[in-house]
Amino acid sequence: NNDELISTIIKCVNFAAIKHKDQRRKDEEETPYINHPIGVANILIQEGQIYDPATIVAALLHDTVEDTETTFEEIENIFGTEVCNIVKEVTDDKSLPKLQRKKLQIENAPKKSHKAKLITLADKLYNLRDLQRAIPIGWSQDRIKDYFKWSKAVIDGCRRTNFNLERELDLIYAKRVSQE
Ligand code: NDP
Ligand code: ZN
Repeated sequence: NNDELISTIIKCVNFAAIKHKDQRRKDEEETPYINHPIGVANILIQEGQIYDPATIVAALLHDTVEDTETTFEEIENIFGTEVCNIVKEVTDDKSLPKLQRKKLQIENAPKKSHKAKLITLADKLYNLRDLQRAIPIGWSQDRIKDYFKWSKAVIDGCRRTNFNLERELDLIYAKRVSQE
């Protein structure tokens, strides 16, 4: 039902905005962090043509547990088990060292559910576009290069999931190669 759907989406955007309120992106202008999860959900809808509510809600929440004090229990209680399980799939284990987490993202990508792969693709697309737009504070060209390389390995583990999202990602890499 339409009323319930729009109510859930706005409740979710509101929840994520409150959770991320003190966080900023890594760019010079310190863009509010919430622009990112909203942008990822928007990519899924406008470019991926994904209208599945659990996928969109999980996309809006995808960095809440990883980057704020939010717990999976909280998400499960408010947004249900399906959403909570998708968010779990796209959340890194913060108790592990950074390098290990990066390696695990590559290893785990092919094992993810279809919905988690969609969010992973949209997340990478947003972050790579963000890197093309502005260099994060303190990042060297080498670090950007490494990030593109690592993202490619994760993306390749999420293939045959969404034609449009994968085409947009491929365009970014094709453009990068032609600039080298
Ligand atoms: P990080 O994982 O530390 O940062 C990238 C993440 O930051 C993105 O995935 C995105 O995650 C988020 N983000 C926030 N703002 C932006 C933005 N404006 N543009 C793009 N992404 C943004 O980076 P690395 O993968 O490079 O680092 C991994 C580890 O290696 C770190 O410990 C780092 O300190 C270290 N390191 C690596 C170097 C290198 O040359 N590769 C050099 C120095 C250190 P989200 O979707 O969650 O918001
Ligand atoms: Zn993200």
